[in-house]
Amino acid sequence: MGCTIGIDLGTTNSCMSISEGGNAIVIQTGEGPRVMPSVVAFTPAGDRLVGIVAKRQAITNPKETITSVKRLMGRKYEELNKGIFNVCYEIIPNDKGDAVVRIGDGRTFTPQEISSMILQKMKYRAEEYLGEEVTDVVVTVPAHFNEVQRKATKDACTIAGLNVKRVLNEPTAAALAFTDAVERRKIAVFDFGGGTFDISVLQVVNGIFEVKATTGNTQLGGDDFDALLVDWIMKEFQREKGIDLREDPVAPQRVREAAERAKCELSVALETSINLPFIASGDQGPLHLEMLITRALFEGLIKDLVESTRPLCEQVLKDAGLTHEDLETVVLVGGSTRIPMLRTLVEEAFHQEPVHSVNPDEVVAMGAAIAGSVVSGQRKDLVLLDVTSLTLGVETLGGVMAPIIVKNSPLPIKRSKMFTTAVDNQQIVGIHVLQGERELTEDNRSLARFELVGIRPAPRGIPRIEVAFSIDANGILFVNAKDAVTGKHQELKINPSGGLSDDDVRELIRDARNYREEDRDRTKLIEERNLADQLIYEASKLLNTSKDRLDADSQAELKSALDELRDARDSSDIASIERAKKDLTMVLHTSRNILNMLDTLDDKDDSDGTESLSQKEGMD
Ligand code: AMP
Repeated sequence: MGCTIGIDLGTTNSCMSISEGGNAIVIQTGEGPRVMPSVVAFTPAGDRLVGIVAKRQAITNPKETITSVKRLMGRKYEELNKGIFNVCYEIIPNDKGDAVVRIGDGRTFTPQEISSMILQKMKYRAEEYLGEEVTDVVVTVPAHFNEVQRKATKDACTIAGLNVKRVLNEPTAAALAFTDAVERRKIAVFDFGGGTFDISVLQVVNGIFEVKATTGNTQLGGDDFDALLVDWIMKEFQREKGIDLREDPVAPQRVREAAERAKCELSVALETSINLPFIASGDQGPLHLEMLITRALFEGLIKDLVESTRPLCEQVLKDAGLTHEDLETVVLVGGSTRIPMLRTLVEEAFHQEPVHSVNPDEVVAMGAAIAGSVVSGQRKDLVLLDVTSLTLGVETLGGVMAPIIVKNSPLPIKRSKMFTTAVDNQQIVGIHVLQGERELTEDNRSLARFELVGIRPAPRGIPRIEVAFSIDANGILFVNAKDAVTGKHQELKINPSGGLSDDDVRELIRDARNYREEDRDRTKLIEERNLADQLIYEASKLLNTSKDRLDADSQAELKSALDELRDARDSSDIASIERAKKDLTMVLHTSRNILNMLDTLDDKDDSDGTESLSQKEGMD
């Protein structure tokens, strides 16, 4: 059986892991670091870059470089808080109102497509590492992701050629990686990454992981701290030099990178400086950005956002029916938890020092790999019991939501409720499935609508319509509506409204597959061109250095083969490059043989001369 890999598809970085002999091992992304920047870029030459190479060129290609796309996954354009997006590409609504990315050349991409490019690269790396095809994956999502966001993540995996065995909540994954199967304890997982914040309370008893409660904010993360610092730097520069750097095509990206670096440095130092030479030019010539940033200043900027997590810590304990005294451990997850101010808040909120022994960047992927070994049957000592993160219900008269499955219910679950008709002789009822914590339909997320037809005519309030919701262990929701009198029923697997349709996904899978072929061809072409260049270099050198020694015919033959390869190299035709390479290799070989023969003859002459000289010397 193939291996199931665990992938933490993060806002800023992504990480993958596999379970080997019961232990989770992080698979390197092949570029040095163990995590891969979640960045995709499209170069002017038409190449698609993913990961560290994409991140590196962001400064010179900001409008074609896509970062933090996770924040757009499964989201409507209208519901985004645009202020928090610290990016150079455009975010626009598509014809369904979903938020999509538009890059500088006008092309648009759904967040699922961009995420699939990141996942595809991770798949390749895992295959290189394992030496076999990888298809099965456990992918993690913030606990607070709704159905649409989960489906978007699943679709991204499907497009990348991955088969999702389980969509796992990130804090659950973290707890899995952290806790020994035999232990019994209650854990709070405080997960603050680049773009999302989650807080969960889990109970582990003899290998059974049960999420007791979860909450969070999918629109809060380290990116917001960067945005606040960038804003402060820009304003300060404008105040000092009178120039608005936002209007420059390159400067904002440079400031963004410097701000993130400064933020990370301030996690260990009390002050740091930002130096960006030649950031702009004024009347007096080039202007440089030089600023000292203290931790106190930074903390002043982020204080409100950090504080906004405190009530959620209290809420999650309340939802789990616990107090801070019941908790044995508080685990920190996500790169931003290195910020001292956040650590202090966690310590205050839970009245205990959080543990730092796990690497906050890798722990989620490691947990996902362990979950992979559970779903593939390799490990039988663990059971994962997740909970619903948001309340699910249906719309009733007057646009009010009637909850059917309340948040934090353990999965899998089945619940039903009886409803009736609103008008006399009503034969059709519309079922509008909703998700969210608010009372009114309009404030919650619409997941799907369908109709139950053929209800027996009766005065209003008489028919009895049972609406049943069931959610399987993977969080997939099925809704069944049944007329209790006629027995007529209608069932639906929820494909959340918005996002990609099945047809969209199928088309994107085809594109991704084609790209895989194209990718391979492009790599082959690059390799062939490189080999051709090497051969051209050798042949030109030989031609130049042996002009006086090679006969005219050999020179002409070499020159003609060389020109032929040069022409072929500039074409994109792999077959003609290969042919021309073969021809030049043969001519080069013949020329070298001729030169070797000449060398041997020369050596013979030279060696005769040397001997006679020494004899002469000896005679003298
Ligand atoms: P994650 O989503 O878990 O990969 O976390 C990424 C976020 O953590 C980004 O916003 C990073 O800037 C932030 N981060 C990483 N290292 C540090 C650090 N040493 N101090 C502060 N923030 C950090």
